[in-house]
Amino acid sequence: MEFSILADTFSKMETTRKRLELTQHLVELFEKTPQQVISKIVYLLQGKLRPDFEGIELGVAEKLAIRAISKSSGIPIKKIETEYRKGGDLGHAASVILEQKTQTTFLMEDITVERVYETLFKIAKIGGTRSQDMKMKYISSLLNDATPIEASFILKILLGTLRLGIAENTVMDGLAITFTGNKENRKILEHAYNVSSDLGKVAEVIASKGLEGIEAFQIELFNPIRPMLADRIRSEEEAVEKMGEKFAAEYKLDGERVQLHIEGQKVVLFSRSLENITSYYPDIIEKIPKSIQADKVILEAEIVAINENSGEFLPFQELMHRRRKYRIEKAISQYPITVNFFDVLYYNETSCLELGYEQRRKLLEKIVKENDFVKHVPMIIVTNKNEIEEFLENSINSGCEGLMLKMLDKPYQAGSRGSHWLKLKREYRNELGDSLDLVVIGAFFGKGRRTGRYGTLLLATYEDDQDTFTSICKVGTGFTDDDLDQLYQILSDKVTIKKNPRIDSNMEADVWFEPELVIEVVASEITLSPIHKAARDEIRKNTGLALRFPKFTGKIRIEKAAEDASTNEEVITLYKGQKKIAHDKNRM
Ligand code: AMP
Repeated sequence: MEFSILADTFSKMETTRKRLELTQHLVELFEKTPQQVISKIVYLLQGKLRPDFEGIELGVAEKLAIRAISKSSGIPIKKIETEYRKGGDLGHAASVILEQKTQTTFLMEDITVERVYETLFKIAKIGGTRSQDMKMKYISSLLNDATPIEASFILKILLGTLRLGIAENTVMDGLAITFTGNKENRKILEHAYNVSSDLGKVAEVIASKGLEGIEAFQIELFNPIRPMLADRIRSEEEAVEKMGEKFAAEYKLDGERVQLHIEGQKVVLFSRSLENITSYYPDIIEKIPKSIQADKVILEAEIVAINENSGEFLPFQELMHRRRKYRIEKAISQYPITVNFFDVLYYNETSCLELGYEQRRKLLEKIVKENDFVKHVPMIIVTNKNEIEEFLENSINSGCEGLMLKMLDKPYQAGSRGSHWLKLKREYRNELGDSLDLVVIGAFFGKGRRTGRYGTLLLATYEDDQDTFTSICKVGTGFTDDDLDQLYQILSDKVTIKKNPRIDSNMEADVWFEPELVIEVVASEITLSPIHKAARDEIRKNTGLALRFPKFTGKIRIEKAAEDASTNEEVITLYKGQKKIAHDKNRM
């Protein structure tokens, strides 16, 4: 398939954010796509080469890309940098530069989607000492044969700046219309996506086997399932109101969520954002198989750091010590953990997702044998407010965050946040009633004690409709010296030359970051703001929302991807909730 067809679709998609128009472009593209390249097309549309959980990263730096453009065009690096600084992005700058060059070139070979994909794949896989040179050779060979428009998209994919704003659901709409003639069938595709986390695979199956193939789609071991999420509630009363007469209450442990795929001695661990985190926990890999009574199984658990002497749960932050590549053995003995199981999703070739919570819990208790390292998450069945209150108290006293409340007869809804699971946290230190998980997008250098580090961070919410990060506050309190050091270290790797186009902020930060790191903050209030961009125009025209007196809680949420951060929709709900409380208080 000619790459120009894809580049042409990309260009059209860049001019719109309207879902219907995007879907129409996708349908036209899919209609022209041969079956054997459809998965590649779907990955490339999302700026990827493979599903996220495979961890294949292109990792090409801007500098290297600039050198490659210079090599294939003969235009000096300085000139390319000047064009780049004028605006747009490097992909766009390259197309302007190459426009000048290709007017005099005649012997270009047509490039195909297959060739671009395979070359990008090679670039992603190269390691070792000469990798930079090799990468540059591959990039410039592609650019040599590419038209300016094609080159601009190849570079955007390489640099991770292709942002077409197409949500997974829109891709699925396009697939449903193209291959079944009916958009309603998206629901069936969604199920397949939720159990495989692999949109390319879903596309391949619908294109080659049709709806029947999708309906027969099975969970596969070592392919992560998209996790079920919980809605938040504020009080025991609200719990009883929403959950009915009888339901389960579990401790909400303050650790890292993990999905364990196990077959015999082989164990693979996926984080909440479906990253493969097996290498951080060699102790789990070694010890878990002995406690599992099943041939093949997918389980969910919370990994929690513990105090070895008292057995008490320690805060999530302690797990950060496991995030290292070297001397992991030392971290294992210094920072011991327990693995606390709360669900079973697949058991000996059969999906458990359709079973009710109670049945799944019984099966879990049968499969997982407890010992010092392996536990079942504490659970009781509750019927009233007092029982919830008492269990919540116990949970907080043993170092947990609160409770997870779960309906007894409901299935596991992969990939969705619903009302069948509710979370109840006790956080009265925080007048908002809940903390927010925000993305670090920029920083301002510190003064005095904080010289040489970032003194204040600029934070953003996630706007999922637009796939952007909208600024909501600056935060400079709540940081210990250790926090400042640690954040400086982590963030130094994320500094960008220019503000990432997904960042929506009017501020002039000293440095901008790739929007990747999520931290937790509390605040006293949400206020209207003429400066910040979060929920802009939603409550009042030309006005956004901001946090008042924000404070870092000490939690760096490494387990969360930027797209898992608090959304503007959630902030609007909190804003409205706070107004309602104020209103009710005034009436009393
Ligand atoms: P939050 O990150 O605040 O949205 O809360 C959801 C997270 O709570 C999950 O992703 C899990 O990491 C964690 N969690 C702790 N205990 C449980 C439990 N018993 N059931 C489900 N999730 C739990």
